[in-house]
Amino acid sequence: MSGRERFWRSRLPDARCTTFSFASKMHAMKIAKDTVVTLKYKVADAQGKLIEANPEPMAYLHGGYENTLPKIEEALEGKEKGFQATLNLAPEDAFGQRDESLVRTIPKTDFPPGVKVGGQLQGRLDDGREHVFTVTKIKGPVVLLDGNHPWAGKALKFSLTVTDVREALPVEIEHRHVHGAHGHHH
Ligand SMILES: [Zn+2]
Repeated sequence: MSGRERFWRSRLPDARCTTFSFASKMHAMKIAKDTVVTLKYKVADAQGKLIEANPEPMAYLHGGYENTLPKIEEALEGKEKGFQATLNLAPEDAFGQRDESLVRTIPKTDFPPGVKVGGQLQGRLDDGREHVFTVTKIKGPVVLLDGNHPWAGKALKFSLTVTDVREALPVEIEHRHVHGAHGHHH
């Protein structure tokens, strides 16, 4: 027996052990606080009409960082890569009810040029806080703005597939969002 064969023989139990623990680790990554979850998702309205299907997956930091809806986090808690779910969410569990006081009519002359229907503008609420408004209509000399989330007041159906789960980096936990692919770039 050569020295080389003896080396392999003596290493074998260790090598097997390493392979085993590596494989079990790959299957054990469950969605929990401070994991980064990558999802493919589709959103439909209550009638099943598709309203968003992003071909790019999105990644979020799980664990109450308000990166995604609490009901989505609740459904995914403890699940693994490959998990699929369809969630039917009432408006109050999705983007809330509409607030009609956020609908404004403003003279077109007050606007920056080039504003189009569907575009967004930063404005201020009555209490001075900054708020994003969507241009919903341009009618003669006036522009209609809506400060509600476009999906406010809607029941939504989310179809989700978990495509990856990993541990969050300390810097991601500190920033409260995901970095890198499908996350923030800065
Ligand atoms: Zn960051």
